[in-house]
Amino acid sequence: MAVVSTLRCTRCGHEDDPQTHEHACTACGGVHDVIYDYEALFARFTVDDLRADPRRDVRRYLPLMPVDPQGPLTPLTVGWTPLVNARRLAKELGVRQLWLKDDSRNPTGSFKDRASFVGVARAAAGRHTVVAAASTGNAATSLAGLAASMGLVSHIFVPATAPEAKVTQLLIYGAKVFLIDADYDTTYDICQQAVARFGWYDRSAAVNPYLVEGKKTCGLEIAEQLQDDLPDWVVMSVGDGCSLAGTYKGLAEMKRMGLVDRVPRMLAVQAEGAAPLTAAFKAGTEDVARIEARTCADSINVGMPRNPLKALRAVRDSGGAFVNVSDEAILDFIPRTARGSGVFGEPAAVTAVAGIEAARQQGVIGPGESVLAVISGSGLKDVKNAMRAVTRPAALAPSLDAVAAALA
Ligand SMILES: *Cc1c(COP(=O)(O)O)cnc(C)c1O
Ligand SMILES: [Zn+2]
Repeated sequence: MAVVSTLRCTRCGHEDDPQTHEHACTACGGVHDVIYDYEALFARFTVDDLRADPRRDVRRYLPLMPVDPQGPLTPLTVGWTPLVNARRLAKELGVRQLWLKDDSRNPTGSFKDRASFVGVARAAAGRHTVVAAASTGNAATSLAGLAASMGLVSHIFVPATAPEAKVTQLLIYGAKVFLIDADYDTTYDICQQAVARFGWYDRSAAVNPYLVEGKKTCGLEIAEQLQDDLPDWVVMSVGDGCSLAGTYKGLAEMKRMGLVDRVPRMLAVQAEGAAPLTAAFKAGTEDVARIEARTCADSINVGMPRNPLKALRAVRDSGGAFVNVSDEAILDFIPRTARGSGVFGEPAAVTAVAGIEAARQQGVIGPGESVLAVISGSGLKDVKNAMRAVTRPAALAPSLDAVAAALA
């Protein structure tokens, strides 16, 4: 387990003691960054140690995470998701190479399992029995699934508009579900009040800095899986900003460890109707204004990003960029991604692929560059929006003639 040297506030720089404190900054309420003594860490844990580990899941990174390897861990297999070399889609988008990192292949079908891996491990180690989260959907289903795998109780706050499949997952995993008749931003505030009042373990990635340490495994994996063939760009859709920030941190740690000699540029993609971070980035400010968010991509329908600073700095420090895409483009890229690669992503997942097209059109990504897009959630999680992108054929009479007629 990586020994955390301090928790440093991203907003005011105040440091809290990791031994006695878990969540937001005690001085200003900002989000902490988990700081390690990397020199000591990489003296004990080397590239050779990593290469010698036969485990193909996030447990191979336990020495870089604030999780006790001897403590309780989920028996589910999280991470080490496959890379798909999407040649046809690359050609269509006008880039030299396109990798899709298929994070829909996690136990509950989304990237969020990386964070929940850490969340449930720390909750169980701290002898918490109830874990709670507010979510647009996937963080909740992920927490519910991983909590179920360890016998923990989960209390979940989601907007009542969350896609049916995600609400179904919650109920099937046995979560106590609070469907809030409001948007995600308000739902989040209510969850925070409930956590404060009832004393549950808080899995909200923005408040609980340790969850980003789980999300960084995506970056650790990209570096290990591609090493000498590292892409020029890593592309991710952005809501709160924790996923992109975590992935960047993982990539940066692999450079520090000496496994790779550079860090790719981060392309952050937001939906046009929910793009407060793009606006802040382009204005050159870290003050993010709350907006009324509206996009079909529910997982990134965020008007008040809870982790803005880490995401803005990750994009800036990597020499990256922000682009926006329309809901029309997002819906269009559900079948285009699936047909061009065989990978079926939910709206927020293919938002990353749509972002590549936008970035090519704006000259942000060049034709000779290689790109990796993270497919952050499964298309089966939101069938309703996927169906908007295709036409359902009429039912046929059960006869060969009818089939022949339909063929013609
Ligand atoms: C949560 C999520 C995102 C965005 O992650 P943030 O940390 O909120 O920026 C993107 N895609 C999917 C499928 C998600 O569930
Ligand atoms: Zn602070």
